[in-house]
Amino acid sequence: MKLVFLGTSAAQPTETRGMTCICVVLEKEILMFDAGEGAQVSYLKSRLGWNKKMKIFITHLHGDHCVGLLGLLQTMSLQSRTESIDIYGPKGIEDFIAANLKVLNFGLTFPVRIMIVKEGLVLDDKTYSIHTCEADHSIPAFSYVLQEKERPGRFYPEKAKALGIPEGKLWHELQSGKEVKVGDKTFKPSGVMGEKRPGKKIGISGDTRPTKKLEEFFKNCDYLTFDSTYSDELKEKAQENYHSTAKQAAELAKKAGVSNLILTHFSTRYDDPEALVKEAKTIHPSVIAAKDLLEITVKYDV
Ligand SMILES: [Zn+2]
Repeated sequence: MKLVFLGTSAAQPTETRGMTCICVVLEKEILMFDAGEGAQVSYLKSRLGWNKKMKIFITHLHGDHCVGLLGLLQTMSLQSRTESIDIYGPKGIEDFIAANLKVLNFGLTFPVRIMIVKEGLVLDDKTYSIHTCEADHSIPAFSYVLQEKERPGRFYPEKAKALGIPEGKLWHELQSGKEVKVGDKTFKPSGVMGEKRPGKKIGISGDTRPTKKLEEFFKNCDYLTFDSTYSDELKEKAQENYHSTAKQAAELAKKAGVSNLILTHFSTRYDDPEALVKEAKTIHPSVIAAKDLLEITVKYDV
C-alpha cells in the first residue's frame, strides 16, 4: 500500500503545490480522496494509470476539493477508460456532477455511480472498509478512515515440506485459507501459517478544526494526513476559517495514538512548511510535510 499526494495546497495553488488530492494505492485498486482543480495533471505525472480500478471520495463541496473531478473524468474518457468509477461524497455532489456533464456536454466512456455519504460505514470491501466522521468545517464535511482488514499470517514453507505437502497449487490454496488434501490426510492452513496480521489504518481529515470526535475516529491510525493550514501563531484565524494549525494536528494525533502524522493543505503564505513541521514535532515524534507527488510506502512490521 502506498500514499501518493497529488495536491497539498489550501484554497489556491502555488507554483509547486496543487489543490487537494490524495491517492491510496492498493494492490488492485486506487482510492482517491478529494480531487481539487488540476488533479488530472498531477495524476498524469504520478503515472498511476487511466484505466485502473478506482473509487473517489470527496470530503466536502468546496471547489478546491472537488472541481478537479470534471477534468479527471473527461481525460479518462479521452483515454478510452472502460472501468467504472464510484464517487462518494456529501449531498449535492450528484447535482454538481450531473449539471456539469450536461452543461459541458461531454459523454463518458465508462459508468459513474454516485453515492451520498453519511456518517458511519460507507463501504465494506473484501480487503478494507471505509468509514466517515463529520468534520468541523464551514459547510458539511467528512473525514475518512480506510481500515485494511486482517491479513493472513506468514506462510512457513518448511512446515509444509515437513508435513509432506507438495509445493505449488496446494501451498497456494493453504495461503488463501483453504484446507487441502494429500492422499487421505487433510491439512488446515493453521498448521503451516502464523497468526493473522492486523491491517493498517489510514486517516484523511479533509478540511476541519480539531475535535474530540475526530480524535476518537482517528484512534491508532498508522498514518494520518491532517489539515495543517496554519502555524499556531495564526490559531485564531484557523478557528475563524474552520481549519487547523500544525500544532493542533499534532496534539490530536498524539492523543489519538497515531503512529505517523502527515501535514498537508498548507496556506500559500508558507513557501516552505518546515516551520510547521518543527512546531508539530514539539508534540509528536513522527511528522512530515506532504508535497506534491510525494509517495509514502506503508510499512509492515511483519
Ligand atoms: Zn474547505
